[in-house]
Amino acid sequence: MAEETIFSKIIRGEIPANIVFQDDTVTAFRDISPQAPTHILIIPNKLIPTVNDVTVEDEQVLGHLFVVAAKIAQQEGIAEDGYRLVMNCNKHGGQEVFHIHMHLLGGKPLGPLLSQ
Ligand code: 5GP
Repeated sequence: MAEETIFSKIIRGEIPANIVFQDDTVTAFRDISPQAPTHILIIPNKLIPTVNDVTVEDEQVLGHLFVVAAKIAQQEGIAEDGYRLVMNCNKHGGQEVFHIHMHLLGGKPLGPLLSQ
């Protein structure tokens, strides 16, 4: 059984977060340490620790993350200019919270994908 993270508590409303969208499948909230004018995390309500743990059963949930990302980008007014979706995996990917999450970043030109 995977260990819960702080994100499970955010999903259940047990700790505060600036939630911008929630349904039965996913929750989206503003990143506590934004790296761009818009920085929102979109996460499955089901705990999946890393992308390595994704299975065929998760396909619908993961597809829904993209549908919600596109909807939020419209709401934030960044859809036309564009934005970046990022999922980090494990140490080399820079993953810090082991409950998969899609970063939605935008609101300014983001530059090259990698800085080095
Ligand atoms: P990772 O590096 O795992 O891909 O990204 C984790 C993200 O979660 C980071 O951008 C970090 O700022 C954000 N984060 C970590 N703890 C919290 C929290 O308690 N609340 C919110 N809103 N964001 C968090």
